[in-house]
Amino acid sequence: MTQTRTEDRTIHLKTPAELAMMREAGKIVREALEAMRAAAQPGVTTKALDRIAEQIIRDHGATPVFLNYPKTNAPNFPATITASVNNELVHGIPSDSRFLKEGDIISLDVGCTYKGYVGDAAITVPIGQIARPIQRLIDATQHALDTGIAASRVGNDIRGVAMAIQKVAESYGYSLAREYTGHGVGHTMHEPPEVPNWWPRNERRSKFKFQNVELRAGMTYAIEPMVIAGRNDLRELADQWTVVTVDHSWCAHIEHTVAITDGDPIVLTA
Ligand code: MG
Repeated sequence: MTQTRTEDRTIHLKTPAELAMMREAGKIVREALEAMRAAAQPGVTTKALDRIAEQIIRDHGATPVFLNYPKTNAPNFPATITASVNNELVHGIPSDSRFLKEGDIISLDVGCTYKGYVGDAAITVPIGQIARPIQRLIDATQHALDTGIAASRVGNDIRGVAMAIQKVAESYGYSLAREYTGHGVGHTMHEPPEVPNWWPRNERRSKFKFQNVELRAGMTYAIEPMVIAGRNDLRELADQWTVVTVDHSWCAHIEHTVAITDGDPIVLTA
């Protein structure tokens, strides 16, 4: 899930033992995502996918972290996953009346807490056969995420990661969500630092203010590029959660939780 609020202001550096625990949470998230990927076919509802994820999480003795997640001036999030179809960018609410159709794409985001640690990841899945330009959008989003992960090294900083992601997405001619970011992950889902997918060209004059932070071994955060085929003007639906593009252009969202080490980054949700 993208940053909606910060639950804790401190950046906690994790020990190797803590990283091992986070990887357990990440494995459960991955199992839920892959089960949903397999089930995401024409005629299936978004709520059916939500039930699959919740069952897997609970079978492992873990807890869904999105369920009842609070948001200012909105009802708590009512499901285990967010299910965002086509022009929905993030935070779509699963529904028994939302049937997937051939040619759709769906972004599935899920998080769980296991033994006190959170894993958070998302995939964008084609429903049946999709148009070639839509597959290119998904491929670009994966490329942007992979680039952001590769940039997540000691010696780099959050701005460097953000700009690496931005460069890739924009090289395909796509735009990025400006107001939604990745985030630190640990005992809770949303911790500092914010991990934007772009960086303002003029930091002083931009209405978007991101804090740059040097990367340190033991930092764990979710990288989650939200890549948009058209313009990045967004609005929220009346349900107060679902974020859509104003121009109805389609979007993809792929996320991993990663750990910074003294060497290569570790993908905790692989
Ligand atoms: Mg997230």
